[in-house]
Amino acid sequence: MNCIDNTKTAISTTLKNIFGFDNFRGDQESIILSIINGSDAIVLMPTGGGKSLCYQISALHRFGTGIVISPLIALMKDQVDALRVKGVAASFLNSSLSHYEQYEVERELLRGNLKLLYVSPERMMTKRFLDLLSKTTISLFAIDEAHCVSQWGHDFRPEYLELGILPERFPNIPRIALTATAGPASRKEIISCLKLQNAKIFIASFDRPNICYTIQKKTNKAQDFLSLNTFITSNFPLAAGIVYCLSRKKTEEVAKYLKGQGLLAYAYHAGMKQEERVWVQNTFLKQERVIIVATIAFGMGIDKSNVRFVCHMDLPKCIESYYQETGRAGRDGLPAQAWMLYGLQDLLLLKRMMNKGNISAARKRVNEERLEAILGICEATLCRREVLLNYFEDPYHGPCENCDTCLAPTKRKINATELALMALSCVQETQNSYNTHHMVDVLCGRITSAIQKNNHHQIKSFNIGSNVAEKEWYSLYRQLVAGGILKMPMDGKSRLELTPKAILILERKQEVWLRKDLKQSVCKSKNITSKKTKHSNNCNNQTKNKKNSIEHYIEDFPLEMNKQLNDHSQS
Ligand code: ADP
Ligand code: ZN
Repeated sequence: MNCIDNTKTAISTTLKNIFGFDNFRGDQESIILSIINGSDAIVLMPTGGGKSLCYQISALHRFGTGIVISPLIALMKDQVDALRVKGVAASFLNSSLSHYEQYEVERELLRGNLKLLYVSPERMMTKRFLDLLSKTTISLFAIDEAHCVSQWGHDFRPEYLELGILPERFPNIPRIALTATAGPASRKEIISCLKLQNAKIFIASFDRPNICYTIQKKTNKAQDFLSLNTFITSNFPLAAGIVYCLSRKKTEEVAKYLKGQGLLAYAYHAGMKQEERVWVQNTFLKQERVIIVATIAFGMGIDKSNVRFVCHMDLPKCIESYYQETGRAGRDGLPAQAWMLYGLQDLLLLKRMMNKGNISAARKRVNEERLEAILGICEATLCRREVLLNYFEDPYHGPCENCDTCLAPTKRKINATELALMALSCVQETQNSYNTHHMVDVLCGRITSAIQKNNHHQIKSFNIGSNVAEKEWYSLYRQLVAGGILKMPMDGKSRLELTPKAILILERKQEVWLRKDLKQSVCKSKNITSKKTKHSNNCNNQTKNKKNSIEHYIEDFPLEMNKQLNDHSQS
């Protein structure tokens, strides 16, 4: 047997004897072999994919202590307890320990008695801790939730940026960055900020084939509550689930309502007392058929494999959050459901929540673009899985036959290629450099100061779309983004870019189709025209105080792309 075979056998034995599993999942084995060999790694795996095992087993097969940097202080104890039960010498250092306890852990570290030590990024970068580390043998650094380094990401933690000094301070110690947020923008930031240019990148498929996605529009509160109850009782009357709401008050209302319907539901939010929250969480973990109605404060690191459904009673703040939250369903691989209701009022509330406090204009723009992207997913009539995975740059092609749009496809469609061509040509003519507001202004023929400054009133796209309602343009752009035809890089610069899919449409090799059965289709634009012409005249020749695109939200304007031109027989 050669050296690699020996290592393979050794890590399989550890997997079986310590963790009790027979086989590695996905790339786990290659990741571990690569780290043991001393290489840096970036691991992108969906929630529940088995990231922790990658650095835990690696640390057990290298000399010294593995330092795990994790922002989730509340979970360190659970993780360490679980490792200790398996006989692994693990500990954690954070502010929840007394000074004496911290001293004890430090002593164990210096004695070389620990295989794994969990620390927060703040602790990691203190002089005291760095000095301590320089006196010990370190086997590896695992940087968990590495997307926190991404300035434009949804979980930015400034302390993460300082972790970039690790390779200089501790050369030749392998570093492994792990995250379940696979967005290409955050991937780039992870590589550059953490100086992982030489790291091997392992990207697991983000598909969760056992989760069925359903997204519906809200109607009114009573009806929405009833829909939720019907969804739960007709699909999983005896199962565990999580229902997410935007406000604390709503979690309480929904929990009370579900209890009234005979379900075992509890509210959970950051405004509750610590003991109450611990009790609710433990009840959820230990008992069957418990439903938690929570704000996003609930769920991080919850390791319950048989959660059968995750519902959203309001729109999540971005696609990353939605994917992370829905990912908590069906970790056991058995059928599970992700069910969401969304509405206009959520957008306004979310915008207010996200833009609170002293935040930069660029950050506000990114927040808004994230909302646009999640809204695009809600509106799209393509396979939900395809749209979601394409957002994470996974080239999945539907139909998946396990989402609402695949299970109830719309038979009658309207060709929206001409509109899409206008929208895309406008992006092309303005060199992929402007945002949706600007595109709509150009198409609708408004002379704004930005248009004047850039001479965009002299390009072909100017004013060619003034007979189509502004809100329809906004929705079309959202869906072009959701369909992966346009890209919003979300890096603070706020612009739309054409993707290779857009080029196919511009070259007339692919068409764009809309559902025919919905009220607000392009056909209606004729009716809108007369009103619209008046409106656009009003808007012309003045720099209008631009409304936020979110306020241009419209009810229905779903769009469907046909992959092949000859696929229209059903229309
Ligand atoms: P992540 O950190 O990616 O969200 P975890 O590391 O917490 O995921 O793993 C999720 C679950 O999968 C845990 O219950 C873990 O024990 C289990 N798991 C991880 N690797 C394997 C494997 N090779 N075989 C079976 N179960 C595994
Ligand atoms: Zn589908």
